[in-house]
Amino acid sequence: MNLLEVHQLCKTYGSGDNAVKALKNVSFSVPKGEYVAIVGESGSGKSTLLNMIGALDTPTSGKVMIDGKNIFSMNDRKLTLFRRRNIGFIFQAFNLVPELTVEQNIIFPLLLDYQKPNRKYLEELLAVLNLKERRNHLPSQLSGGQQQRVAIGRALITRPSLILADEPTGNLDSQNSREVIALLKESSKKYEQTIIMITHNRSIAQAADRVLQVSDGVLSDFGRCRE
Ligand code: ADP
Ligand code: ADP
Repeated sequence: MNLLEVHQLCKTYGSGDNAVKALKNVSFSVPKGEYVAIVGESGSGKSTLLNMIGALDTPTSGKVMIDGKNIFSMNDRKLTLFRRRNIGFIFQAFNLVPELTVEQNIIFPLLLDYQKPNRKYLEELLAVLNLKERRNHLPSQLSGGQQQRVAIGRALITRPSLILADEPTGNLDSQNSREVIALLKESSKKYEQTIIMITHNRSIAQAADRVLQVSDGVLSDFGRCRE
């Protein structure tokens, strides 16, 4: 079954002489558990596409189905809940809450939903993220790589079926980048999570199951890179 279906998505910013067609009739679908890289030059429409899939912005026309549900037909309240429960977001800027500890930052999305963390899964996450000894530290006491791992923990704690990542390794050195990518892949395989990741890094893109390229708002599917 397809976890994600994007149908004839168009997005135009502005109007008249200032109109920018950021997405031009983009369609693709992604099976459950697949790891997809999105590449393309700066300004080609990658972030716009990811923002539509995550319902952070609305398209001019077209449809996004996640797990069989048309996300743009939901009202705001339903959409907020759906997003919180089904989608994990990871951005280049870590956006951690500075006053909260590592552990508190990770379980934050559950608190918003009045849920308690599954202790076993939290311990497992802290272990794979290599943050066990840092659980009571504040973000300001961590390195960039550690902070990004906290942000990843926060995205994974709800066990989302879809993970949306915008240049998640953009602020990391190559060693940290490799670790972060390995971690996401492992989680994706273990829990059948679909990952859609924007990256400028060719070796990261080539390690994905599939590469999609956006050029001036138009999508090309390069399929699988691996033999
Ligand atoms: P990328 O992520 O590939 O760098 P974006 O999706 O950010 O590309 O941008 C695609 C196009 O849409 C660019 O021409 C950009 O200038 C334009 N754009 C993006 N966001 C806005 C906005 N909020 N208002 C107007 N134009 C925008
Ligand atoms: P650097 O950080 O050294 O500038 P990048 O990680 O951005 O390098 O890119 C690594 C390699 O991938 C470079 O050879 C670059 O030309 C190529 N590359 C960067 N972005 C893309 C892209 N969107 N599609 C294809 N190749 C890319």
